[in-house]
Amino acid sequence: MAKIILASQKSRRVENGHPWVYDNEVASTEGSYESGDIVEVFNHKRQFIGKGYINPKSHILVRLLTRNAKEEINKEFFRRRLQEALAFRQMQGYKNTFRWVFGEADFLPALVVDKFENCVVLQTLSLGMDKFKPMIVEVIEELVKPTAIYERNDVPVRELEGLTQQTGLLLPKADDKLLAELAKGIVIEENGFKFKVDVINGQKTGYFLDQTENRAAIAPFVKGKTVLDCFSHTGSFAIHAAGYGASHVTALDISEQAMQNAKQNAELNGLKNMDFVTANAFDILKDWTKENRKFDMVILDPPAFTKSRQNIHNALRGYKEINLRGMKLVKSGGFLVTCTCSHFVTPELFKKVLQEAALDAQKTVREIAFKVQGKDHPVLWNVDETLYLKFYILQIW
Ligand code: SAH
Repeated sequence: MAKIILASQKSRRVENGHPWVYDNEVASTEGSYESGDIVEVFNHKRQFIGKGYINPKSHILVRLLTRNAKEEINKEFFRRRLQEALAFRQMQGYKNTFRWVFGEADFLPALVVDKFENCVVLQTLSLGMDKFKPMIVEVIEELVKPTAIYERNDVPVRELEGLTQQTGLLLPKADDKLLAELAKGIVIEENGFKFKVDVINGQKTGYFLDQTENRAAIAPFVKGKTVLDCFSHTGSFAIHAAGYGASHVTALDISEQAMQNAKQNAELNGLKNMDFVTANAFDILKDWTKENRKFDMVILDPPAFTKSRQNIHNALRGYKEINLRGMKLVKSGGFLVTCTCSHFVTPELFKKVLQEAALDAQKTVREIAFKVQGKDHPVLWNVDETLYLKFYILQIW
């Protein structure tokens, strides 16, 4: 097994628990390896740090899988890790639908596994993890006996690893009838509401499971109220609002497909007091502020405006703009529910942007709740990147 020796100044972060070794942190390499092989990583004093897979094509040269020198990386290893991740969800009461593996936070870097009823969707986002895909599929099959395991590897980051983007059934290998069945959508239940999840063509893995608990948190504030859910996707916040007793809910998304799915979801839950708008939220928020329209609650759950540190400035401008307009659309004493799912917009930065928006809009803000992603997307303190979703319920005057 090849040995990677880290430079003296650089090893603290990895020694202190971060699993990524960047290519510019390495002092020397001993032995030969091929892309995706397991290598051993040592600090500059040649003390063992951990073992992981290597990819010289990626700036993230090694991702550690274990810090135990005796632990072998084989099928048993993946069975243990997946079983632990499953038990962690089950102990918290997750039943049929949840994020089963959240990459680094479950000590399985670059692996994402979502379970939607009997269908498992997976993403292998690095070359090293991709090589273990057949083994992971076997373990998933043995642990939960799903009717389907579907790969949603249509993710651009794979290209940084020299991988292609691809989607398709992994288990069973080819089954047109099953594919046709999946294409009709899988009905999941969340907080007592039903949602149809399209694992084949939906965004990401089909449904955003990270907001499950946050969606429930709006319940006390919507009864008899008017709600605008911008960036609604398949209507999840909107349907929660309507189901919790809102008098009227407007769901809005730029994607026509998403709005079609949202309509189906409303029907599935027998909700009639809703309408659906396909439009650009930036335009609509501007127009409706000009028209002086008001809602008791405005929900803003936009896509990540930045996936890199370089773009942060533009992203913050975008967050400020929609939040400023969102605040103006809220009736005095009403609520703004607002999120960012960009890791680079830290809780401090997000709060600062919201404070600036409130100042410009001349609003008084009372913080009702601050939450992060759900507990099936745990935050590992040693890996900063695992905290990405920030969610506020604010009362606005
Ligand atoms: N709130 C949703 C998730 C939103 S994901 C949920 O809980 O499931 C972000 C959504 O914003 C996507 O559905 C995307 O289609 C939509 N979107 C992106 N840019 C937009 C824009 N400018 N205006 C309106 N919607 C937009």
